[in-house]
Amino acid sequence: MLTTTVDTVAAIPYYKITGKETEVFEACFQNRLPVMLKGPTGTGKSRFVEYMAYDLGLPLITVSCHEETSSTDLIGRYIIKGAETVWIDGPLTHAVKNGGILYLDEIAEARPDVIVAIHPLTDHRRQLYIDKLGETCKAHPDFMLVASFNPGYQKGFKEIKPSTRQRFVSLSFHYPNPEIESEILVKETGIASDIASRLVQIGNKIRNLKELGLAETVSTRLLVDAAKLIHQGLPKRLSVEVAIIQSLTDDEDIIGPLKDVANLMI
Ligand code: ADP
Repeated sequence: MLTTTVDTVAAIPYYKITGKETEVFEACFQNRLPVMLKGPTGTGKSRFVEYMAYDLGLPLITVSCHEETSSTDLIGRYIIKGAETVWIDGPLTHAVKNGGILYLDEIAEARPDVIVAIHPLTDHRRQLYIDKLGETCKAHPDFMLVASFNPGYQKGFKEIKPSTRQRFVSLSFHYPNPEIESEILVKETGIASDIASRLVQIGNKIRNLKELGLAETVSTRLLVDAAKLIHQGLPKRLSVEVAIIQSLTDDEDIIGPLKDVANLMI
């Protein structure tokens, strides 16, 4: 199963620029360079790609990669239709032929043949080899390859080979500073700014509790979720518990102390 979405981003997505990322991305597009967005989950990578697709007026095709994602899924396959066998372009071939951004979300999860397939698209050749058709397809001038990956400072995260990493310009995403993160919560959810600030304080407090050994810590996404629940009218402490704390861990010995910390702050 391939999770793919094809979007023409119709309305400008809300994206708070936090550094030089838009300038870098635009320069990469002008020079037809592929871009790697790296950083923990929920730090705005996907939202940034949507924003850039809108800004550059490009269609956006997103593929959420997982361990079963293969080059066939991306390039295309023959299917039986009635008495005929017809070729169906996959999302990568579609974008290569017609132009647009192909966003391979969590590329490290995909099978190794995906990496092999994209290599000739990431250098001066800018071409895709469609082995099942025996054809080589030159990329449309407006084709751009973007991938994301979570470097993961903990064990258990998949890595990308250095030889592949070096084919991309890399943009690093982090949790924004408190003022910017509060602003994002307010703009995304309509929550009052003092509550947004308190949620961000809770987020930063938990992020700094490195000794808990959490696989992933509080992302901006989790803070946005908690803010949405509070804005909906749910009690603040309950919102923090269900949107943030319970999403981080199943370990009751950690949940208790985290609830105590959060309850003191909101
Ligand atoms: P990622 O792709 O890094 O996992 P997303 O782009 O899905 O993360 O971001 C998760 C959520 O966090 C978004 O839906 C949005 O609400 C919020 N968010 C994070 N960073 C930003 C930002 N810079 N501007 C606007 N929203 C942001």
